Amino acid sequence: MTPEATSRILLDTGALLTGHFQLSSGLHSDRYVQCALALRHPRHAGSLGAGIAALFAGDRPTLVAGPALGGVIIAHEVARALDVPCIFSERADGVMALRRGFSVKPEDRVVLIEDAITTGKSVMELHALIAPTGATILGFGSIVDRTGGDSHLPAPPRSLVTLPLVKYQPADCPLCRAGSVAIKPGSRPKPG
Ligand SMILES: [Zn+2]
Repeated sequence: MTPEATSRILLDTGALLTGHFQLSSGLHSDRYVQCALALRHPRHAGSLGAGIAALFAGDRPTLVAGPALGGVIIAHEVARALDVPCIFSERADGVMALRRGFSVKPEDRVVLIEDAITTGKSVMELHALIAPTGATILGFGSIVDRTGGDSHLPAPPRSLVTLPLVKYQPADCPLCRAGSVAIKPGSRPKPG
């Protein structure tokens, strides 16, 4: 799947908004990505998952894993396309864990999937859970790479589209200076 086709899905579903936004961190940005809005459509989720799967198919994965919540749906669709099992990690008392009887074998070849990777924090917590099993970790995949080349990951993510997160302190925000007011994403109905 091309970056253009991926962007088209994100735009058409309202998952990628451009404008002037106040992020949950309080910082301002000219772009907002909410992959769940694209993934709510199973057909799009399937296409995006197949696109990511194609980036790893040559590595012969045996398992796909994603961190809850953002990684669950897209990891499942990647696994469907690869015809391998999918597991997810989740936080219990704030600590990322594999629960529900999920396990990883030393001979597994694992792909770690998140919907959008910005700092890579969640997916690195998942990495820390799986690395001690002795399994081979093939790499990181996502719909959107928001790292701008700067993340905690040991290898760059393989992603369908690259949309670096540009953020500003409100006092330094050029959009504020131009006179517009930042909105909080999700505070109004979105198309799609
Ligand atoms: Zn602003």
